[in-house]
Amino acid sequence: MRLPRPLENLIDQLSKLPTIGPKTAQRLALYILKMPGGEVKELAQSILDARFMVYPCPICGNLTDKSPCIICQDEERDRSLLCVVEEASDILAIERTGYNGRYYVLNRTFRLMEDGDLTDIDTENFQQMLQPIVQEVILAMNPTIDGEVISRYLHTIVEEKGIKVTRLAHGLPVGGDIEYADEITLRQALEGRKEI
Ligand SMILES: [Zn+2]
Repeated sequence: MRLPRPLENLIDQLSKLPTIGPKTAQRLALYILKMPGGEVKELAQSILDARFMVYPCPICGNLTDKSPCIICQDEERDRSLLCVVEEASDILAIERTGYNGRYYVLNRTFRLMEDGDLTDIDTENFQQMLQPIVQEVILAMNPTIDGEVISRYLHTIVEEKGIKVTRLAHGLPVGGDIEYADEITLRQALEGRKEI
C-alpha cells in the first residue's frame, strides 16, 4: 500500500535527521498527524525561526539571534579570560560550571584524521579576540586526538602574543565529548586546568 504523498514526504524529511531511522520517522509522522493543528503550526514555525533567525555571533561564534550575542554584551564578564570551544553547545556545559569569562567558538568539530588540514581554520576572528586585556586563554577542546591537534595549533598562535595558555585537566573521558560531560567532571577539569 502506498502512503498518501504528503505523509510519505514528511517521513522522508524526518528520516534525514540524525539518529532518526525509517521506523522512528514513520512513528513521528503519524504522531504529528494526530497533533492539534495549532501545535503543528508552532512546531513548523519554530523550526523555521531557529533555522533562519539564529546565527553565529560575529565576534565570538556563539549562537545568537542578536548581534553581538548576550555573552559579548555582558559587561559583568571577566574579559581577562577567554575559553575556546569547538562548538556553541559546549558553552552550555561550561556555563554550568560557573565560569564567567568570555568564549571563542570554532564552530566545527574537527575531523582532522579524515579531511584534516589546519590551514582551512579561520583564525582571523580568533586573533582579534586576543586583545591585551586577555590574560589567559583556556583551550577546552574535546579530549580526542583531533582536539589535541587543534589545541597545539591554537597554543602556538596564543603563545606568540605572550598570553598564558591553559587547558582542561584530565579526568574528562578520552574520546568523549565536552557537551556530554557531567557538570562535576567538567568543573574539576576547568579548575585543574594547566598552563601549557
Ligand atoms: Zn558573542
